[in-house]
Amino acid sequence: MQTTRPDLTRAERVAQALAAATDQTHPAGPAAELQDIFDLGGSLPTDAHGTIDTRVTVLVLPAEQVRRLLPSGLELAPQPVVPSGWHPVYVLSSHDNFSAWFGDMDYEEMMIAVPYVQISEPYGRYPGPYIYMPRLYLNAAVPRELGVHLYGWEKQAATITSTTAGAETKYVVTAEGATAPTVTGTFREIAGLGPQPPRAYANFTIVRQLFEQPTISQALHVAFPDAFTRFAGPFFATTVLYQVDQPGTTVQAIEAELVVGESLTPPGIPPGTYRTPGLDTAQLGSFRLQCKQFVTLPGGCRSVNFPRPPAERRLKVAVLGGGPAACTAALYLARQRDRYEVSLYTTGFRLGGKCQSWRNPAKAWRIEEHGLHAFLGFYHNAFTAVQDAYLGAFPDDGLGQALYGQAFHAEPYNGVMVKRDDVWSYCATPTLSTSAKSPGTDDLQSGHALLLAMEGALARAVDHLAAIGHEHPLLGRTLTDARQELERAAANLRSSAGAATKRQAPTSADLLDGIAADVLIALRDTIAAIVRLDEHISTYAWFLWTGVDTLLTIVIGLLRHPVRNLSELDGWDFREWLRANGLAERGDERWSVVDQVYETLFAHQPAPAGRPPCAPIDGEVHAASLACGVATRWFLLESTGALGTPAYRFRYSCAQTIMTPLYLALEKLGAKVNFFHTVTGLELTGSGEERRICGVRLQRQAEVCAGPDAYAPLIREPLPNNPPELPDWPMDPDYAQLVDGEWFREHRFDFFDAWQADANPHARPALLRAGADFDLVVLGVPLGALPLIDSPLTSPVHADPDPAWRRMIDGIAVTQTMSFQLWLNVPSSSLLAEPRGLLTAFAQPEPSYGDFTPLITYEDWPDPKPQYVAYFTGASYSGKPPLPPQCGPDYPQRMQAAWSGKVHDWLSANYAAFYDGQGTPRSFDRFLDLLAVEGEVRTPAQRLEWQHLIADVQPSNLYVLSQPGATALRLGQAESGVGGLILCGDWTRTDMNCGCVEAATSSGMLAARAISNEPADVWRTGF
Ligand SMILES: Cc1cc2nc3c(=O)[nH]c(=O)nc-3n(C[C@H](O)[C@H](O)[C@H](O)COP(=O)(O)OP(=O)(O)OC[C@H]3O[C@@H](n4cnc5c(N)ncnc54)[C@H](O)[C@@H]3O)c2cc1C
Repeated sequence: MQTTRPDLTRAERVAQALAAATDQTHPAGPAAELQDIFDLGGSLPTDAHGTIDTRVTVLVLPAEQVRRLLPSGLELAPQPVVPSGWHPVYVLSSHDNFSAWFGDMDYEEMMIAVPYVQISEPYGRYPGPYIYMPRLYLNAAVPRELGVHLYGWEKQAATITSTTAGAETKYVVTAEGATAPTVTGTFREIAGLGPQPPRAYANFTIVRQLFEQPTISQALHVAFPDAFTRFAGPFFATTVLYQVDQPGTTVQAIEAELVVGESLTPPGIPPGTYRTPGLDTAQLGSFRLQCKQFVTLPGGCRSVNFPRPPAERRLKVAVLGGGPAACTAALYLARQRDRYEVSLYTTGFRLGGKCQSWRNPAKAWRIEEHGLHAFLGFYHNAFTAVQDAYLGAFPDDGLGQALYGQAFHAEPYNGVMVKRDDVWSYCATPTLSTSAKSPGTDDLQSGHALLLAMEGALARAVDHLAAIGHEHPLLGRTLTDARQELERAAANLRSSAGAATKRQAPTSADLLDGIAADVLIALRDTIAAIVRLDEHISTYAWFLWTGVDTLLTIVIGLLRHPVRNLSELDGWDFREWLRANGLAERGDERWSVVDQVYETLFAHQPAPAGRPPCAPIDGEVHAASLACGVATRWFLLESTGALGTPAYRFRYSCAQTIMTPLYLALEKLGAKVNFFHTVTGLELTGSGEERRICGVRLQRQAEVCAGPDAYAPLIREPLPNNPPELPDWPMDPDYAQLVDGEWFREHRFDFFDAWQADANPHARPALLRAGADFDLVVLGVPLGALPLIDSPLTSPVHADPDPAWRRMIDGIAVTQTMSFQLWLNVPSSSLLAEPRGLLTAFAQPEPSYGDFTPLITYEDWPDPKPQYVAYFTGASYSGKPPLPPQCGPDYPQRMQAAWSGKVHDWLSANYAAFYDGQGTPRSFDRFLDLLAVEGEVRTPAQRLEWQHLIADVQPSNLYVLSQPGATALRLGQAESGVGGLILCGDWTRTDMNCGCVEAATSSGMLAARAISNEPADVWRTGF
């Protein structure tokens, strides 16, 4: 074929251009150029159509073995088919026939393929999954040359013989240069099983998942035969589609034996004999497939779209849990209606979990929340998931987009409380700099996100200095030089970000090169000296300085000890690391800008040793112990990664804004939501690579009259001012929809109280069985409730516990949380000197506050309505709080009663420090008199009790903590160690690794993606 020496420099350039293509997935122009360079013949390149007759053998090998089949730049992606620690590899022994632009071709090919592979790009948005083919042996030159020089495939010449004698076909492949067979495949037909349409095999739906991804190849393999060991990208994507939906397709279960010889390259499949049963008995069993196929031209990976042919049956997915994580996973699977039949099972009668809220019909339909909730400006995945829920719920006429457009308020008033010389002051966060790029939203590819975040931190420090200058003109003038120096340093970082994007695989040292830590240290310490000398500096200027000090210390710490990913710092406590890097905070001083990260993530010391486990809430709780990487990332994202504004409040209640559209979307998309179902056990079978989930035991808490999935959960009464499309969630179940509803009403049975679960005479066991009721399970039950589930994975008393699960459940701390909401008859402006929207770092145990006054509009108060609603939230008892039946059946009620007293004491001690406005009464009783109530006049204490006070001790609602060392214990969504069991929840490993809706929704997206390859785009922090 090739007559003259090809121009490899030109080939390399064309391959790079083809790999970088974004607009057009498979451009013909560059392909034609490659065709010309390598003299590949034929007319202009186009898609190629043909047929394949192939025997498929799936091997399940240890993951570390399979990694040896991948070139650098690629890694194994999460997959739903075999337990984590193992990975499928398949071998196709095929006869291919193509009639295409390059002429007619008829050849034998043995292909080794690794499905579920992704580009190792920590800054990319989980690119992949793809099929990588480490080796293809062919017995014909034309398809071999084309494959190598046009598609970058690892094709090699081989002698291939295929002989059939009776029911047995032997396929012998001897690679060029080998003296003994490289692979010998012996395939035996199974008596009585001839070729049949794919729907004849239930297992075909499982195994076909392995083929339904685009292939990925090294672009530079077109010019360099040693690309496998030489380059980490760039990559081509190509669609190789087996058109199994076309008439004439047949599948035939066969038994297979592969003998792998020493000459198979690259290493990764150890030499030896592999025997596999047929597809009739095994999910990944062997089979012969005859069908049409087509192959596109290669193109860039960024815009690749794989057109999956319709499946012969839908895979059944049981999603367990009803919080944001489980609902997000269910949403993205349910959107693929042709592929997945989604059934969600959750405790009780509301979705939302820790994001639950409800309306109290006896108290003006007021909104009562599980705790204060808001979205931060960097919640890319959470906003995407909520938007997709609106679009799924209201697909027509732009209504979904319109409702989503109104769903969030940008919060203009963000700040912290600062305690200086024992006096509390409110300090507003200065306006965000717009100079920093948002680390997640730029579209540059290489490893620079950490750099951009650090550049953002420096820019933010400049903001603080500018604000100090404004606040304190004398100091401001002295700090002008410092600002210039910081601006220079930020520009410096920005240019190394530019340089980094040009490098292939930048190391952390590359990234952090070009800016001297010493300069920043000198600057930080000079500013500290100036501030410390000024005895009369205002608290606000002091606060601004603590912000500069913290931001600079983070940048200095990362310059002195470069990391690739902040998770490397997760063994440290955040404050300890900052202090070790020279934070100016001394002794008992506490920078509120640091505390706010602890408080937002409810990070608290474990209860002191010897504390009686069932004792009521501690008054004295201390913020401490927060994994440094988690906290630094949070801090950098909060400071520099915001979309528009640092924080957003919900337009309506939390659940009405985010859970109602999720529920309506699931309903619209045909998912079955089974309320009143608590998971009580997981049944596993097999071991090693055959360990699978085979059953899910449930407690059906109540029988729904119209059928298990027919409960209508939302409030039916139209509430004034509320959007009719978005009903809210009720406080009590609709008893009329339940068999024995009257019993539940009379006994005021609490479906969310785990201490009462065994006291429900109407509960019945239910069992979901693999095959009949599910093919795959997504476990979205929260960490705190996992120990209540009987299984080797979750039960603390199981005879044969799974070590990784045990370490995770025992090792990650959780905490109870306590919250209250106050409705007041005066506007906030009479109680507060200046507006306060969202803040934290106030007095324990209720440091976090939000002004949720706009929600009054959606409640149904008689005139005169309350004028102000204040929410307070905090953590109390962290570590391992009691689980039922510990502490007796009335433990939640006792804690709730104790909480009323605590709120009274806390408010009495702190209201005057918080409310610094002209109209704040001097006496606490007078303050309580401002509380809104309905009905007859009450005592001040009763007025307080009439408010919404909630001490949440339920296992399901325990907040997941990120104490130092905890990140390493988290399991990824596809790391259950059990085939068919995928995980989601804010306790699984994501880029956030902390308890927040961004982590929960990210995990739900990643769980759906591990199963279905969608959603294709999941935002990553990149550092
Ligand atoms: C007081 C408080 C305030 C918070 N504020 C914020 C905030 O402002 N911003 C933010 O981003 N995050 C906040 N969070 C964190 C956020 O609420 C959680 O990260 C998020 O709800 C976790 O979602 P999830 O789906 O993983 O779990 P969950 O929300 O806990 O949902 C779990 C679901 O599983 C169900 N379930 C439990 N056990 C079983 C079982 N055995 N069988 C079947 N179903 C079961 C539950 O009923 C629930 O539906 C706050 C948390 C708390 C506690």
